[in-house]
Amino acid sequence: MTVPLLDLQPQYRALKPALDAALIRVAESQVCVLGSEVEALERSMAAYCDSRFALGVSSGTDALLMALMALNIGAGDEVLVPTFSFFATAGAVARVGATPIFVDSEPNGFNINPALLGSLITPRTKAIIPVHLFGQCADMDEIMRIADKHDVAVIEDAAQAIGTQYKDGRKAGSIGAMGCFSFYPTKNLGAFGDAGLITTNDENLYTKLKHIRNHGMEPRYYHKLIGGNFRMDALQGAVLNVKFPHLEAWHEARRRNAALYTRLFIEAGLAQENPEHKACSGFEHCPNCANHSFQRFAPHNSILLPPALYTDSNARNHHIYNQYTIRVPQRDKLRQHLAARGIGAEIYYPVPFHRQECFAGLGARDADFPVANCLAAHVLALPIYPELSEEQIRYVVGEIAAFYLDVPPQGSIFVAA
Ligand SMILES: *Cc1c(COP(=O)(O)O)cnc(C)c1O
Repeated sequence: MTVPLLDLQPQYRALKPALDAALIRVAESQVCVLGSEVEALERSMAAYCDSRFALGVSSGTDALLMALMALNIGAGDEVLVPTFSFFATAGAVARVGATPIFVDSEPNGFNINPALLGSLITPRTKAIIPVHLFGQCADMDEIMRIADKHDVAVIEDAAQAIGTQYKDGRKAGSIGAMGCFSFYPTKNLGAFGDAGLITTNDENLYTKLKHIRNHGMEPRYYHKLIGGNFRMDALQGAVLNVKFPHLEAWHEARRRNAALYTRLFIEAGLAQENPEHKACSGFEHCPNCANHSFQRFAPHNSILLPPALYTDSNARNHHIYNQYTIRVPQRDKLRQHLAARGIGAEIYYPVPFHRQECFAGLGARDADFPVANCLAAHVLALPIYPELSEEQIRYVVGEIAAFYLDVPPQGSIFVAA
């Protein structure tokens, strides 16, 4: 059996007639950039994300860049970003000429630690970019409280979190000044190439972003400000319009897969449900773990499952599981073990920003980021895409159990290759 980390084929096969028709519709129209397909997407995304405005753009990276440009952030300014994220979060800050200030992760849940923000804010701080990593919201109440107190803007990097809800059902991207989304093919809602979106409730920001998207041009060939070409292709809009009605069902399938993993890991004696991650869980080979106190689990309780932090009144989990990320001892060896058995698994992310060569000049101190360093050493994302079969998930858990346990669990709960 093989279990790829992600397989986009089944989704395409399921929607092939509608997707192919949409592609041909755009070809026949020869409206190639923006146009009615992108406008239709913007309307449905604004409604879905509970935001007054949504703007279709060229990528999630460009969405972040544009959001910073719209706030006039540049040289001499500082922007707080989690050190543990995809590169675009910090790259966008550096590209507008501002300085990214790295923040360690919270011990539970992978996101920026709001408790650290207050002491990092200076008179130069212009914005905070929390990332809703892997599909679960950062602690927005705390982040907004601190940002408001210091009059600092919040840009949500919701690239992995479209449709995710925070407390009280608030949607990712609707809480800060702007929300930045990505439709890269590996995201829960993926285009056939690069595309992104910005949401905002602020009409002035919306108007400015619209100008920035098209070289700051308004009216035609008159440029009040310097923007860029950040426009979305009509083809991407058309593909996304076909896929969007299925998004909630795909989120639900990912949650179902996550719940099955959780149940099987617990049944196998490999994990506890929603364990509290005490800074570091004491994995034996972690060079970072010697420094801080941690809770050591029983030998067989060696996997930390991704916690589901936000649920609604019906105990419905709001995580959309763009990634299902476990934390494990002997991570690299486990990954090799899985690869040899046809199972894809990926490390998001092996090198936090404060350790990146391109940011060496910023002088960040490695010791200031114990949690992110620990995550970088132990995280492993398992296949979670909606079309996975129960059998495939049982195979993955069975192989992980075989790796860790001297006597792997036998019987009906696992399948053989
Ligand atoms: C994917 C992603 C981006 C960038 O989106 P692109 O559309 O690939 O440019 C930014 N931030 C995070 C957290 C992401 O996962």
